[in-house]
Amino acid sequence: MGAQQVREGFTELYGTAPEGVWAAPGRVNVIGEYTDFNEGFVMPLALPHTAVAAVSRRTDCVLRLHSADIDGPIVELHVDELRPLTDTSWAAYPAGVVWVLRQAGHAITGADLHLSSTVPTGAGLSSSAALEVVTALALNDLYDLGLTRPELARLAQRAENDFVGVPCGVMDQTASACCIEGHALHLDCRDLSIRQIPFDLASQGLALLVVDTRVKHALGDGAYAERREGCEKGARQLGVSHLRDVPYDDLDRALGRLSDERVRRYVRHVVSDDHRVEQVVGLLDAGEVRAIGPVLTQGHVSLRDDLRISCPELDLVVDTANASGALGARMTGGGFGGSAVVLVEASGADTITKAIDEAFAAAGYTAPRVFPAVPSAGARRLS
Ligand code: ADP
Ligand code: MG
Repeated sequence: MGAQQVREGFTELYGTAPEGVWAAPGRVNVIGEYTDFNEGFVMPLALPHTAVAAVSRRTDCVLRLHSADIDGPIVELHVDELRPLTDTSWAAYPAGVVWVLRQAGHAITGADLHLSSTVPTGAGLSSSAALEVVTALALNDLYDLGLTRPELARLAQRAENDFVGVPCGVMDQTASACCIEGHALHLDCRDLSIRQIPFDLASQGLALLVVDTRVKHALGDGAYAERREGCEKGARQLGVSHLRDVPYDDLDRALGRLSDERVRRYVRHVVSDDHRVEQVVGLLDAGEVRAIGPVLTQGHVSLRDDLRISCPELDLVVDTANASGALGARMTGGGFGGSAVVLVEASGADTITKAIDEAFAAAGYTAPRVFPAVPSAGARRLS
């Protein structure tokens, strides 16, 4: 839905025009998985898909929230009565942002918000971060808070961690808040420094496809916490604060010091994926874009065999794509479903998409959704 439609929806709903309309994108991670909480590296890009929100201030501490995409009435809350971990509905995402801003001492005295989003939900493309970041940017502008993009991302992450109760890293919100068109974002999850990496695939005759498998296996629910615990255990046994501090060149020696086979696999994944992010950045800097393909596939093998968070649908995407001429492919996001990314020659995109569709049909899986990951702008004011 465009800015005009969301603006009109707001006016119809609340009886007056909004003060403004903002957008924040979903993201896809190109490389660097489960590295963020290990204070390592990631490299996401912002998608053309956005959450668009029309917002006005209020002075009576009332917060009214509505999504055009959810059946249901306006959610009406009071900003003084927001309590973490109590709301399990979609409204917890924008409400959490109001809560976290107020916790940080900003005098948010209420708001009316109406939104609509084109970011697929639950596909590992961060529809939740888009909701948080669009709310944070709108309130930052309307209440003149003067917060920087990285600060907004940090606050949005805290809303998701502490108010909604999802222990995510800071990548999703940073990508949504800080990405720029035509670039991927290299993020150092230790000091939160960012670097915009030119990622203009179209000019090279290339495309990055997102393949949303449209499955979400329940197995994933406890897996994130379990992997996190395993990584922390590995860091403790190696005497470092985070796995980021294990040098790639020293990986074999470090692995030799770990007795637990499970922990050893997790450490190998994290340390090697950090290295793959740096490899990809180096190749992009050198203009060798096609050469990142095999690195993506190595990342998938590591996620499948060492971290063990892939699933048959994601493996089928990667194997079929690579067998049909893709330059490389990997699952992306938390795993156990969600999406994969596939690097292709633009001229071969249709053939590879068709091969994936046919492989899914032959396996009896739900048809996947495939679209190009055009590196797009981060959060912005539309009107
Ligand atoms: P992801 O961020 O990977 O898409 P999450 O489970 O973290 O998946 O977030 C999805 C949740 O975000 C949805 O269940 C819903 O609560 C909320 N959400 C996303 N998009 C919308 C929308 N357009 N309207 C209302 N809520 C939404
Ligand atoms: Mg999410």
